[in-house]
Amino acid sequence: MKESIYQTVCPGCGIGCGLYIREDNQGAVSIDFFKSNPVNLGKLCRFGMKLPHYFSSGAFCKADEPSSMEGAIRDAAARLKGAEKVAMLSVGNTTCEEHMAFERIAKTLGSAVHTGIQAYSKLPPECHSYLEGMPFQDIEKANKIVLFIDPYVQYPLLVRRLLAAKRNNSHIISVGTKELHLADENLSITPNEYSQLGLDSNSVIITDLHPHTDANDIIQLLNLSLETGAKILTMKPFVSSEGVNRISKVKTTSKGLSQMMDEVKKGNIRTLVLLDSDPIELMPDTDETVKSLKKLDNLIVISSRKSPVNEIADVVISTEPLYRKAGTFMNTEGRIQENSGTGVTGINAMSSLNKELGSEEFEYGQLHEQVMAALTNEGQKSGYSKIKNLATAKQCTGGYVLKYLYNPFMWFNQLDDNDFVLINLNMVRSLKLKKGGQISLTSENGNIKMRYRVEGMPDGLILTARKLPIAIAGTTSVKVEGC
Ligand code: SF4
Repeated sequence: MKESIYQTVCPGCGIGCGLYIREDNQGAVSIDFFKSNPVNLGKLCRFGMKLPHYFSSGAFCKADEPSSMEGAIRDAAARLKGAEKVAMLSVGNTTCEEHMAFERIAKTLGSAVHTGIQAYSKLPPECHSYLEGMPFQDIEKANKIVLFIDPYVQYPLLVRRLLAAKRNNSHIISVGTKELHLADENLSITPNEYSQLGLDSNSVIITDLHPHTDANDIIQLLNLSLETGAKILTMKPFVSSEGVNRISKVKTTSKGLSQMMDEVKKGNIRTLVLLDSDPIELMPDTDETVKSLKKLDNLIVISSRKSPVNEIADVVISTEPLYRKAGTFMNTEGRIQENSGTGVTGINAMSSLNKELGSEEFEYGQLHEQVMAALTNEGQKSGYSKIKNLATAKQCTGGYVLKYLYNPFMWFNQLDDNDFVLINLNMVRSLKLKKGGQISLTSENGNIKMRYRVEGMPDGLILTARKLPIAIAGTTSVKVEGC
């Protein structure tokens, strides 16, 4: 059986692990390990190992049918001509070249591409370059590492860097919501107590920056870095998150995903164009998001995979799967990696759409040059001053809080074996939960019964690594009962 082999990057998170994808002539996909890849030395986490499943749900079948592609492009152009209140979203789930092509269309429409991370627009612009990646190898050399993430769940291939740091006698402190076995210390402290971390210029602070990150959390860490000289590594969730946030120059006015959905709900956005970015997967509350998206005049999706938003879109322009595309990715450490694929279905579709809209066509080579110029133009680090906290939104107070532990399976709505919530022993005792029993969670969105697992965590907190229909936001007040 004839098969094609592609050197590519895992789309699961911003670490950007390298791998090979084998595709047979029936379109079936399997993975092969890329042992010399400097990011992951051939290793993959559970999400990476399940990539055949991720790619098997592809929506790209119609990309090979020119008539359906041409029809979709004409339909999209007709809807965009004269459309008002247009917004465009590309979070970085595709190549930097496709993102650049999307930027060209935005220019034609007099619009802008948003990358969905609102924290950027809330921070002084001079801080942005301090949130760009740093080499993962620097983690291994740090004398102290403070984790504000759960690497096992959120960025699994980071764990090997942390274990290498430990072998080099690095002291690891977790200031997370859950105790980590690899940490030398697990602290539950507030920002006012960060001085007790004892950081200096040989320390590294690791946090993450995604569409639902609270800008205040980043401000606290930027201030901590300023006071101590510690470096910050901001992990990011999508394969080209780092790249697209460097390419898009509108960070100061960029809209966050939640803000965009709020504007869709209020009718301030009437036409939404998405490039491999599905709000139904990315927002915490699936049903509410679907309801909002259905209010749009036009929902236009350019997508390389089958995701829920395709089902309700007015137009879907289906492109080839990620591994077949020609293109470039920039991972969280600022490393540029290139696909061996030569597919330009997505680029050509966007070029034709731009032409239908009355502007010039473009081709892959031009976009690639632009991408390389943008990615190799490092942000100027000209210093910043202490940043004031922003006024905070209303927090969940008292009672129990259900919190999302964002991870690759959650971002892409993929099933994993995590059909349980995490709670601490005090909760087990106070609710008199039985071993092997379930916990009942109720919010204003309804009720669900879940299996539970006990972890060292703060009182009142319930963590979930999968989306739950009762969640309203990243943190949701819930009532709990044993059952
Ligand atoms: S760590 Fe991230 S990039 Fe690497 S295999 Fe897992 S999901 Fe993919």
